[in-house]
Amino acid sequence: SESLTVGELAKKLGREPSEIIKKLFMLGVMATINQELDKDAIELICAEYEVEVEEEILVDKSDLEVYFEAEDEALLQERPPVVTIMGHVDHGKTTLLDSIRNTKVTAGEAGGITQHIGAYQVVENGKKITFLDTPGHAAFTTMRARGAKVTDLAIIVVAADDGVMPQTVEAINHAKAAEVPIIIAVNKMDKPSANPDRVMQELTEHGLVPEAWGGETIFVPISALKGEGIDSLLEMILLVSEVGELQANPGRRAIGTVIEAELDKGRGSVATLLVQDGTLHVGDPIVVGNTYGRVRAMVNDLGRRVKDAGPSTPVEITGLNDVPQAGDRFVVFEDEKTARQVGETRATSALQVQRSEKTRVTLDNLFDQL
Ligand code: GDP
Ligand code: MG
Repeated sequence: SESLTVGELAKKLGREPSEIIKKLFMLGVMATINQELDKDAIELICAEYEVEVEEEILVDKSDLEVYFEAEDEALLQERPPVVTIMGHVDHGKTTLLDSIRNTKVTAGEAGGITQHIGAYQVVENGKKITFLDTPGHAAFTTMRARGAKVTDLAIIVVAADDGVMPQTVEAINHAKAAEVPIIIAVNKMDKPSANPDRVMQELTEHGLVPEAWGGETIFVPISALKGEGIDSLLEMILLVSEVGELQANPGRRAIGTVIEAELDKGRGSVATLLVQDGTLHVGDPIVVGNTYGRVRAMVNDLGRRVKDAGPSTPVEITGLNDVPQAGDRFVVFEDEKTARQVGETRATSALQVQRSEKTRVTLDNLFDQL
């Protein structure tokens, strides 16, 4: 859009709206905080602050996507699916994630030291699959609240001895809202009390009709505990992914989403990023949410140092000035100067928002006391 309100412009410039209103007044323009400003007025104000108006300032900077150029279809290649496991508590999500990781990751890796970075990759029939091992529901809610779409496919685990439970339904709703395909893993098949027919019946009531009954939903019987049915599950994931034609261009600058982040005493800000398009390299200037930096070191899910991370790869990085939040987007820039400018602008706006929120809270508290 070619216009901004006074409030929006103030936020972008990291100033108080009242200050902008005053400047406008001095320029002979009477304005209120919600008033739309045209391009000329924006340019005048920006000149006052010695800020060069780029086209970017006219678009919403909360969306880092604007720095990402359009895809060149000719350069797209197949990329691994990113899978989230959801389901009711105690139905076996953690056991399944461990089982997949243990049978697939450590088998081929000498030493087999896996590191918890919030996501991992396995290889099935020569093809990679990325699993997010942050709690599925949380991943969906926090990520989606920030407008990030990280999951290509949802596995919903249902214990065959327990059937559909409230969080099963919640998981189905999350997956449907995100418009990602669902595969049902009917777990605990080793139990004598397992009743997979009941699970199918109950899920049919939620619109998930098994293929065996003329529907389209894939049900895979498994025992996460005994490691049974894992290969079939992985094969089904690949099958469903192929239909989705997941693609990315490994040759471009990386873009993606923060999976986890924390402040480490020794290493500073540590963030697990999921590269969603392009390739991330050590040394890349990067803006992550409202912070920025240069990728200092990258570690993969096996705890190994790597120099590059392609599409659908989770990787832990250091080198950011501050700790971003799960669900924040990241974009790599061509040069450090631009990354710093964009990063600093975003940091200032974020701080400004925080401050105004604080003021509001204080006022509310005051009224509460009256
Ligand atoms: P989560 O809450 O969904 O992460 O469930 P967990 O993975 O923690 O599993 C809950 C309990 O069910 C644990 O005691 C597991 O050992 C058990 N469990 C998980 N999968 C299976 C399975 O395939 N068979 C049996 N018998 N028990 C299982
Ligand atoms: Mg668990």
